[in-house]
Amino acid sequence: ELDLPRPNNRRIITVANQKGGVGKTTSTVNLAAGLAVHGLKVLVIDLDPQGNASTALGVEHRAGVPSIYEVLLGETAVGDAAAQSTQSENLWCVPATIDLAGSEIELVTMVAREGRLKEALNSDSVNELGYDYVFVDCPPSLGLLTVNALVAAHEVLIPIQCEYYALEGLGQLLRNIELVQSHLNPALWVSTILLTMYDGRTKLADQVTAEVRDHFGDLALRTVIPRSVKISEAPGFGQTVLTYDPGSRGSMSYLDAAREIAERGVERTTA
Ligand code: ADP
Ligand code: MG
Repeated sequence: ELDLPRPNNRRIITVANQKGGVGKTTSTVNLAAGLAVHGLKVLVIDLDPQGNASTALGVEHRAGVPSIYEVLLGETAVGDAAAQSTQSENLWCVPATIDLAGSEIELVTMVAREGRLKEALNSDSVNELGYDYVFVDCPPSLGLLTVNALVAAHEVLIPIQCEYYALEGLGQLLRNIELVQSHLNPALWVSTILLTMYDGRTKLADQVTAEVRDHFGDLALRTVIPRSVKISEAPGFGQTVLTYDPGSRGSMSYLDAAREIAERGVERTTA
């Protein structure tokens, strides 16, 4: 079953872009599922108070369930907040509840406020759970939650929507990543650009694709995620597109993208 390489060390990938609606959550859950179907153990951390990643993975996130909020406060261990997704036995999710909404402000007064997620992930109890991949789904802002995600990660994956103004705001994101690199997490790097919502019928989509490849070179995955109704319908059923419509183009594209991510990681560590 395992025909994708297992990383030698756990890879923590933060999915960030301060723009809303570019496909962060969709890409997080479907890439995670695309790795989990190959037998890799994957954890998704939902760091957006909206809880959309939790919903898409079929994980309860009503107020009161153990969530990322308690983890950030240091009250609950990651392993105790992680719930198994209905989508795969290898797929786990630390949900976000509405409690997280106030946390950007609450975090400000806390000790080591930028490093709380990192600390929570660096515990022995998490190591024992044997996750191969951890994906962190960020909210659409560059506040303290996103900073926590950048400090905790090895890699950043930036989804870019093939639309007008796709590259707008990217400079600000990259500058924030550089700030985190220079002060808090020197090993952090942008490993992956994923083009999403590609509509082959428009000339614009090709222009954006060309511009992104020109700018980011090989960091951009060869696989491009098409605009697809199936992809947008799946979360309404608490599913990833891989289970909602396995044969669809959207499902196949996320499987391809997941494969690229897994294979590139190994090329890099053996290079
Ligand atoms: P973000 O997390 O960046 O805010 P989402 O992943 O929630 O973005 O996507 C925004 C909206 O676009 C959602 O309604 C989602 O279902 C839809 N969507 C995302 N990717 C696609 C796609 N490839 N094709 C069609 N709709 C998509
Ligand atoms: Mg989102």
